[in-house]
Amino acid sequence: MGDLFLPEVARIASMRDETPDTRTFALRLRDDRRHDSFSFRPGQFLELSVFGFGEAPFCFASSPTRPDSIETTVRRTGQLTNALHTLAVGDEVGLRGPCGNGFDVEAARGKDLLFVGGGIGLPPLRGLIWNVLDERDRFGRIQILYGARTPTDLVYKDELRTWAARGDLELLVTVDRGESGWTGNVGMVPTLFDKTELRPATTLAYVCGPPIMIKFVVQDLLMRGFAEESVISTLERMMQCGVGKCNHCAIGHCYICRDGPVFNFKQIRELVE
Ligand SMILES: Cc1cc2nc3c(=O)[nH]c(=O)nc-3n(C[C@H](O)[C@H](O)[C@H](O)COP(=O)(O)OP(=O)(O)OC[C@H]3O[C@@H](n4cnc5c(N)ncnc54)[C@H](O)[C@@H]3O)c2cc1C
Repeated sequence: MGDLFLPEVARIASMRDETPDTRTFALRLRDDRRHDSFSFRPGQFLELSVFGFGEAPFCFASSPTRPDSIETTVRRTGQLTNALHTLAVGDEVGLRGPCGNGFDVEAARGKDLLFVGGGIGLPPLRGLIWNVLDERDRFGRIQILYGARTPTDLVYKDELRTWAARGDLELLVTVDRGESGWTGNVGMVPTLFDKTELRPATTLAYVCGPPIMIKFVVQDLLMRGFAEESVISTLERMMQCGVGKCNHCAIGHCYICRDGPVFNFKQIRELVE
């Protein structure tokens, strides 16, 4: 692990537009040896700086099982993300990390896995999904349920097609509003639960998306028999330093940036209480 306090210089190796306001950036550390030894867990995040504009946290969207790529998927929302979207392949950014705890992949071995993503909530799950698919025989049944506002807002469209074509997982996609040519599901993400068979006793559920989606999805999963400990999410609180020093993201004694951002719902309920 590098120095979490010092940004390293990384180059934008490639970029891909996912939606009109969301782009995936593949980053390569300028120091080749550092790049080759860089490791992270899915669910951890990096602090990315755009020179002259500041620094912000973004989760790793790639899998550590594919060590050549450090990817992050960023939606334009304000000053820094707008500036990032104006950069070109070959431009340099600062990278600090990996920060946070990440998903416990070891604990998931042998379990059935349910991924529930909404909109820009798929990126943190994508790293874990590829990690699990690259070690497919170590996990049980895999279900991926994903929803976005419209078909245009779906991220990783090529990968959704790749996953749909695999015979070793179940993928269900829905949109809130269809567009011309859309023949898939229309309805909010929780409507997908009635289109599949859930096995709460043996399944770990990973839920990422906008807070309102998380609220309804989690309520539904708990009602359908999932234990709070088996429902896992990432908390995206406003944060600054990323290393548990500045107090920006603290809830009581817990620093979301250092002790999270991954928590199960028993832990989240206790934090909020
Ligand atoms: C652990 C973590 C992981 C994240 N991963 C991703 C990711 O993979 N992809 C991605 O696009 N974004 C991610 N974010 C959010 C991202 O950090 C913010 O969008 C970014 O800081 C916005 O910076 P800005 O200067 O462009 O916008 P600003 O001008 O700072 O803000 C624009 C708007 O976004 C709101 N906002 C800023 N940060 C947050 C936040 N953390 N939560 C809710 N609202 C916020 C502001 O209140 C404001 O309304 C993550 C945040 C955290 C804490």
